[in-house]
Amino acid sequence: MSKQITTIVIGAGPIGLELAVALKLADTKYLHLEAGQIGQTITWYPKQAQFFSSPDRIALCGVPLQTVNQSKATREEYLAYLRSIVQQFKLSINTYETVTCIEPLKDHKFQVTTSKSTYEAQNVIVTIGDMHRARKINVPGEDLPHVSHYFDEPHKFFNQKLLIVGGKNSAVEAAIRCHRAGAKVSISYRRDQFNERSIKYWLLPEIKWLIENKKIDFHPESIVTRITPTHVQLDSMTGPQKIEADFALLLTGYEMDPSLFQHAGVKLQGKNRSPQFDNQTMETNIPGLYVAGTAAGGTQQSYKLFIENCHSHIVKIMRSFKLKDPTQINELAYTHLQKEKTLKQLPES
Ligand SMILES: Cc1cc2nc3c(=O)[nH]c(=O)nc-3n(C[C@H](O)[C@H](O)[C@H](O)COP(=O)(O)OP(=O)(O)OC[C@H]3O[C@@H](n4cnc5c(N)ncnc54)[C@H](O)[C@@H]3O)c2cc1C
Repeated sequence: MSKQITTIVIGAGPIGLELAVALKLADTKYLHLEAGQIGQTITWYPKQAQFFSSPDRIALCGVPLQTVNQSKATREEYLAYLRSIVQQFKLSINTYETVTCIEPLKDHKFQVTTSKSTYEAQNVIVTIGDMHRARKINVPGEDLPHVSHYFDEPHKFFNQKLLIVGGKNSAVEAAIRCHRAGAKVSISYRRDQFNERSIKYWLLPEIKWLIENKKIDFHPESIVTRITPTHVQLDSMTGPQKIEADFALLLTGYEMDPSLFQHAGVKLQGKNRSPQFDNQTMETNIPGLYVAGTAAGGTQQSYKLFIENCHSHIVKIMRSFKLKDPTQINELAYTHLQKEKTLKQLPES
């Protein structure tokens, strides 16, 4: 027997959490399901990685995000902030419960199946992000144990020969950090140079200096053809090359898994395979099924959707649900926090 729910929110990343606060402040009953821990996508950023967005742009529902040095937030600071949002607003989230299927039923309802249960809901809002799996380069040796698609932390590569594949922020940041941590770093990038407009402005001069001064080897216009336990083979402008490598980091981007949308009948569009939705309401072509956050962008070929420009999705959904004036969400959040504070300050009788 399915449990009956009005609204189900899938995903507790920053946007799912901000949406949950808005729904809660509008006194709406909803069920929140999350496959991992809250902020799961952020947990696999490299340790101490810095956001490129300023704190005020990634702050949620008007609650200030303070950082220890008034600079960009780190992974750790932002995760702590997300935990505090959940605590302050007493959000209830079923973590470690993966949604495996959303099925539209005949009576304008949905059956939502998870790893633990089955629910029936009138509305489903999907905020599952766009980073479900690493983009593979499909070469022999990609699955060897010294090869990874995720950069965790630099210490592992101290005194090691490390080849990094990629030329965007993740690859450049990993190269600089691992070089500083004592690794012998090489970069293989399929383009002739980094895209200056998309690399964090504080990383660009540094990577250029390290390459110009031969502290980091740069192999432009090269592609990996094979990885062995000791080497990486490249095809480059100068012909085939064999680079010694104790480790290889393949930082070539991430893909979205659109199967939840697909099974529910949502149309997927273009190269990104992004869900089709009404830009005024965030409702997909399946009535009652909404999308919010970076999930709306599908597998983004060049990143256009970030936390900072997804806050408006919540406003649109709240308007569409005819809930409390969404422009007052921040004000409501503030009032809620003040109320909490006042109650806590009351002396015990
Ligand atoms: C190193 C790095 C640095 C970045 N820096 C920035 C930055 O500075 N600014 C910025 O805006 N963005 C940045 N990003 C991107 C940022 O992570 C995303 O913009 C942000 O996480 C999107 O938020 P979201 O809530 O839409 O999705 P997510 O944060 O991806 O949250 C989606 C949630 O849904 C859950 N989920 C997925 N599938 C299911 C399922 N089937 N059932 C239940 N739950 C599910 C996931 O576990 C996850 O917790 C960066 C990314 C990386 C890798």
